[in-house]
Amino acid sequence: MKQAEDLKELLRRIDHRSYPAYKDTAGAYQFDGYVLSIDHVQGDPFAAPSKISVRIDGAKAAFPKDIIRRKYTRTALCDALIRRFGKEAGAFSFQAKGSGKSGLISVSRPGQEVLERSACEIDPDTGNLIFRLEVGFPANGRSINAAELQKILFRFLPECVKKALFYENADKKELARVAQLAQDQQSIREQLQERGLVAFVANGAVLPRESGVSDRPMKQAVRFQAPESMEVELELPNAGKVRGMGIPKGVTLIVGGGYHGKSTLLKALERGVYNHISGDGREYVITDDTAVKIRAEDGRSIQQTDISLFINGLPNGKDTKAFQTEDASGSTSQAANVVEAMEAGTRLFLIDEDTSATNFMIRDQLMAQVVHPQMEPITPFIDRVRELYGQFGVSTILVAGSCGSYFYKADHVVQMMQYEPQEVTALAKEKAAQFFALSQDTPPAPPVVPPAFCRRFALDKKAVKNDRMKVKGMGKDAVSIDRDTIELRYVEQLVDSEQTILLGYLAKYARKHLFDGKKDLQTVVKLLEKMLREKGFAAICEGRYLPCNFAMPRTQEIYACLNRCRELRPAKETGLL
Ligand code: ADP
Ligand code: MG
Repeated sequence: MKQAEDLKELLRRIDHRSYPAYKDTAGAYQFDGYVLSIDHVQGDPFAAPSKISVRIDGAKAAFPKDIIRRKYTRTALCDALIRRFGKEAGAFSFQAKGSGKSGLISVSRPGQEVLERSACEIDPDTGNLIFRLEVGFPANGRSINAAELQKILFRFLPECVKKALFYENADKKELARVAQLAQDQQSIREQLQERGLVAFVANGAVLPRESGVSDRPMKQAVRFQAPESMEVELELPNAGKVRGMGIPKGVTLIVGGGYHGKSTLLKALERGVYNHISGDGREYVITDDTAVKIRAEDGRSIQQTDISLFINGLPNGKDTKAFQTEDASGSTSQAANVVEAMEAGTRLFLIDEDTSATNFMIRDQLMAQVVHPQMEPITPFIDRVRELYGQFGVSTILVAGSCGSYFYKADHVVQMMQYEPQEVTALAKEKAAQFFALSQDTPPAPPVVPPAFCRRFALDKKAVKNDRMKVKGMGKDAVSIDRDTIELRYVEQLVDSEQTILLGYLAKYARKHLFDGKKDLQTVVKLLEKMLREKGFAAICEGRYLPCNFAMPRTQEIYACLNRCRELRPAKETGLL
């Protein structure tokens, strides 16, 4: 292996030369205690910065075996190391000077959730650590400023690496706390299953966020306090006994006046599929990790989804067993979102009236009397919610501020009153029974035919399968693969733009290698996940360097992304079946 001195020597040689001479620096160099690898060198000082990785031998990094052995504590450790490194590196960014991105030191910036990221990976068996980051190689105009790069690689980075990536220099108590929290969170997830719960919200939790643009906890929030009737006590391996609201399987309504905190509770449950960092306020807000937020999404594309559970006999004669549109309506999009979530293996729907299509959720009896049911293609969600649980085992937590009809369907009704939940199931049932005596019978909903999950896709003939297709993220809102833009704005449980980027790479890989018109969608997703499990993020980079900005999405978001790829077509249309 080349030595750090060789790199120094090389830098001296290329100083003041034109920028592309930097390309010669690519390669691995032995530094004191670690290997510095220059994985990709940018083409000019304004281009995307160069990719660097730092590799440390397990014996030298020496993080405790019991932390790195289990996936959830390892992920939490890596997350903590990224945050620590980021803090150290922040002080040095742009301290080396020059044009364009010269001197930039960019490290992944995790939000409140703890996600598996390519920025830091530790091998569970060897303890070998890889840390990935980006550096803007300095230039004056377009000529290399090697002295400035030398500052970064020989002074700034070694200091960050030393402080952040070796256990001997770490705040050991802090890391132990990080691992303990992850272990407690995992324990809650396991206990949900054992106790037949779909979610747990601990007493004392802080649910509201600082603002619409900040995901930090609100200061002076009213802390969560479970209603007595729904309070459960969990025993955690480190924190001991924790009490809070346990939401059982089945159908749960969250009701209450406007502004009393209904949506805030639901939002916290949506995010509860992920673990949160210490200090977030939602450390012990844990939701079944297959839960999917279901909402209306006008304008999305739907490819051959069987929405006949909800929609039948459209006036244009369109097939709703294999529904296809480039521009869905509120109700068809929400129907597709439900069925696709079932295909993605969800056990829990999370629905907020605020973001639903009214005609998908409910039809009142007066309307049913005027518009004859035979003229109405939609079987509203209210007529299916019990069967979704009874026949398919999918629970629902629904925020319903204005529609009392769901009282008939609910197992539990929770009222939010000034941010405090009360259980009002008995009252709601009593009122509903009285009301029912006054109202008319409605005709029964059509029988349930389980949706078919056998969609086979291939690439549209016009779409090209080329290797150089660029994957470009647009924050959390969308990712594009060349001209195919996949809209993800309303896939609300995507929490990090790095997840979006990875989804783009997964979609690109699947387009190129997996969608052959023969494998169905479930098979394709299983293959993608198997690759990720066995080979890690590197699996989808096809031999190129692994970017430092991948974060792992859930299975449910992989489905959501592929379901929104407009260039995928049913195999029969592309002539493959
Ligand atoms: P709803 O959906 O019932 O209309 P929201 O959940 O949107 O109400 O909450 C209304 C407002 O109250 C939001 O601005 C939110 O930040 C704030 N809020 C919610 N929960 C709390 C709480 N526990 N403490 C303080 N403020 C809260
Ligand atoms: Mg609301």
